[in-house]
Amino acid sequence: RQAKYAALRDMSSTSKDGVKLSLNINAGLLIDVDHFHETGADGIGLFRTELQFMVRSQMPKVDEQTALYSKVLDNLNGKPVVFRTLDVGGDKVLPYLRTKAEENPALGWRAIRIGLDRPALLRSQLRAMVRAAAGRELSLMFPMIAEVSEFIEAKAILKKEIEKESKRSGSEPAKINIGSMIEVPSIVWQLPHLLNEVDFVSVGSNDLMQFFFAVDRGNPKISDRYDTLSPSLLKLLRKIVDDCTAANVPLSVCGDIAGRPLEAMALMGLGYRNFSMSAETLGPVKEMALSVDIDQLRDFVLKLCDVRDHSVRDQLRSFARDHSI
Ligand code: PEP
Ligand code: MG
Repeated sequence: RQAKYAALRDMSSTSKDGVKLSLNINAGLLIDVDHFHETGADGIGLFRTELQFMVRSQMPKVDEQTALYSKVLDNLNGKPVVFRTLDVGGDKVLPYLRTKAEENPALGWRAIRIGLDRPALLRSQLRAMVRAAAGRELSLMFPMIAEVSEFIEAKAILKKEIEKESKRSGSEPAKINIGSMIEVPSIVWQLPHLLNEVDFVSVGSNDLMQFFFAVDRGNPKISDRYDTLSPSLLKLLRKIVDDCTAANVPLSVCGDIAGRPLEAMALMGLGYRNFSMSAETLGPVKEMALSVDIDQLRDFVLKLCDVRDHSVRDQLRSFARDHSI
């Protein structure tokens, strides 16, 4: 099977009916850059910067962060990389960042909430990204945005860092794309406002599902209870496509569903074109993508948004079988 996927490495990510797709990998450490080359991915759609923080016993200094981001950009040779600012708290604990035990850590002091409350930490990270990307393109996004005001505040911190860096070194990124993750349901209901502020958005379906269904993503007892292919979730995901299309804002999905062929197929039917997934799932998703006729798929998937039972998965399987996908 591995050899089969290796053969797909150099093929362009285009559906059977010629729709251009972007298939990217999720990354977090330098070793993932090797995976990028092995898979022939179109880019890195989610670089989880917290990994560098989690593998250390001390907070990485700005220079160390800069060195990592520079190496990633060097190695990608101009292919896109989306850095995500620190997403810690919840289940991701930093031994050197003291926090109080919380009763509901997933709903607690985490991600951008820490970034905005402790701006020194966020600033140091943004400084490192801006330095690493001097003279080249920088794409970054903020995690767990629940309200537009949080995004605006985070963006203002970034703008200040760019100014400071420009004064200090006389250089700045050639282009900056600032994005927001969509992983808290409330922001979906503020999307038109958010989309006025961003250059792109990316759906973090792991957290989005967790909050949408009120189901702890790490609890095996309930992890199978709510299907990722539930009509209500499909409808939510479709609304995001509609709003982004209307506002002409690039959209991607970087949660685990992007890396499961059947789910990714459903997402293609809903209108998603840009996916970021763990490296080992890229082959199977690409294989599906190359054999799917998205035009045929669209109406079928849109109808599934309105079924009232748990049949979506089976219906998608039948569709795949009937169309030799
Ligand atoms: C997500 O929530 O879907 C996501 C991509 O972020 P993480 O899995 O790192 O929380
Ligand atoms: Mg998340």
